[in-house]
Amino acid sequence: MSLPRIHPHPRSRKPGTLLIPVVLLSAFVVASCGSDDDGTVAVVTGNVVADGFDFPVAPGEMTGWTEPPHPDERFDPSSYLVHREDGIHPSIDFFREEGSSAGEELWAIGDGVVVDIVYDREAYPDKHEGDQDEGWGNLILIQHDYVENGETKRIWSQYAHCATVEVELNQIVTRNQRIGLVGKTDGTEGRELWDVEHLHFEIRTSNLSASVYPDDLGLDTDEKVSEYYTHPLEFIREHRPR
Ligand SMILES: [Zn+2]
Repeated sequence: MSLPRIHPHPRSRKPGTLLIPVVLLSAFVVASCGSDDDGTVAVVTGNVVADGFDFPVAPGEMTGWTEPPHPDERFDPSSYLVHREDGIHPSIDFFREEGSSAGEELWAIGDGVVVDIVYDREAYPDKHEGDQDEGWGNLILIQHDYVENGETKRIWSQYAHCATVEVELNQIVTRNQRIGLVGKTDGTEGRELWDVEHLHFEIRTSNLSASVYPDDLGLDTDEKVSEYYTHPLEFIREHRPR
C-alpha cells in the first residue's frame, strides 16, 4: 500500500498579490462570481444563511477518516499550519484510516454558493483554463454566510484535488450536498502526480481565489496565515448545526 506523503504544493503563476481585507471588499455590492485577476473572488451579497457546518466527507462526521495530527507519522504532513518548502500549509488533508480515499464523496460543509471553480487539465480539458491549476487539480470554492451572536459572518470552504466537480459556478448548495469525489488530480504537466487520493481542505476567512496559496501572498508566519485562514476541524466543531 502506498503511503500518504508530503506533497509539493501548488504555486500560483500569479505573482504575489496585494490583498484587501474582506471587510473592505464586502462593502461593495457585487452580483457576479468567479475569480478576479487580483487573487480574490467577488463577495456574494444576499447569500443563503448556513444553519451550521459538517465535515466535508460522508457522512459529515469524519467517521473512518484520520484526524491530524495523527500518532501515525504517515499522516503528520496533513496538519494545519505545517511549514514546508513551499510555504505554510493552510489546510487539513483528509485520508481514510483504512484503504484508499479514492472515489469517496465530498460534501458541502454547509449551505452556501459556489464562487470559484478550477478545472483540472486532464479531467476537464474542455473547461480547463490554461494558467490556473498548477498543482491543484480540480478545485471548488464555496462562500458560506452564517449568524453568530447576532452578527452575520462569512467563511469560504475550499476542496482540492477532486476527482470530479459536480457543481456549477453560482450554484446554491446545501449542507451535506454531494459536490464531487475525492481524487488526486494535479493538472500540472511534467510534474509527478500525487500517488495518493486525498482531500486538501481549507477554510478561509477571506475572499481569496480558489487557487491562491499563502506563499503566493507572502504569508510566511502562522500569524499572517491566520489572518486569512482558520483551522478547518476546529471551526466545524465550534459551528455544528443546532
Ligand atoms: Zn494539502
